[in-house]
Amino acid sequence: MTRVQNVLVSVVRWFDSEAHSDHISGEPRAFSFVRVLPFIGLHLACLLVLFTGTSAFAVGFAVAFFFLRMFAITGFYHRYFSHKTFKTNRFWQFVFGVLGASAGQRGPLWWAAHHRHHHQHSDQPEDLHSPKQSGFWWAHIGWFTCEDGFRMNERRVRDWLRFPELRFINRFDALVPAVAVVLIFGLGEALALWAPGLGTNGVQLVVWGFVISTVALFHATVSINSLAHVWGSRRFDTSDDSRNNFLLALITLGEGWHNNHHRWPQSARQGFRWYEIDITYYLLWVLEKLGIIHDLNPLPAQIREETLRLDELRRVKP
Ligand SMILES: [Zn+2]
Ligand SMILES: [Zn+2]
Repeated sequence: MTRVQNVLVSVVRWFDSEAHSDHISGEPRAFSFVRVLPFIGLHLACLLVLFTGTSAFAVGFAVAFFFLRMFAITGFYHRYFSHKTFKTNRFWQFVFGVLGASAGQRGPLWWAAHHRHHHQHSDQPEDLHSPKQSGFWWAHIGWFTCEDGFRMNERRVRDWLRFPELRFINRFDALVPAVAVVLIFGLGEALALWAPGLGTNGVQLVVWGFVISTVALFHATVSINSLAHVWGSRRFDTSDDSRNNFLLALITLGEGWHNNHHRWPQSARQGFRWYEIDITYYLLWVLEKLGIIHDLNPLPAQIREETLRLDELRRVKP
């Protein structure tokens, strides 16, 4: 294929991630500038805040939408679609899949396929986002900018392929974020009309509530690939470099207990001691009480005992 065709295929894939699926548009780990232009554009669009101004409502909306979608990513993209740590029905699976897709971190199947690959090869040469293997920035924002990152290995998510609704939002992964932008713009314009005292409008609410919120959400999420493999403590001597980090656990609603998670990924709960705050788990517990999800995988007794034993050892050591 010529260079022009490569560019055209990359542009089409902004909208249809599976377009020309037999076409390889670059070297496996080569940076694809055209394909990541929307991602770069989203970062630059944060600067629009200089023109749109700020309101308490817009900032509050950005924070609320950040945490709502963080929960959809941690609770569903990660603990459900990637690890199946609980069960739910097809309706709620789709609802939370859509909410997760609004985070602009591509589709649930793509996300789960790459994450399962990470667990199988953590910090080994095959791991696509390992700070140990490829450096901090590659693990943070490099790994998904190349052909290896864009592609989804269907074999890793065979269990989800039978759901056409999931395949649809996974294939057209820009659709849900685009609808979110339109809805947020409409809300901002409606508020400008009916509640002018809030001082917001469509463009301002999109810049704060979608653009800034989504960029922050993205960096918080991928900090688990980068920071949580270099910064923090290691309770378990796992074969990777995963760490437990209180600050990351707060920002990511519990995912910062990453060393715990690599020790026992099957657990719905990632904070293994009562003081290891894991807000995603508390929210999943509430969803279970509401009958929306069920069969949350508990931490097995032997892992709980191992946790207590290692903590005791660390405490008595000088
Ligand atoms: Zn990891
Ligand atoms: Zn995981």
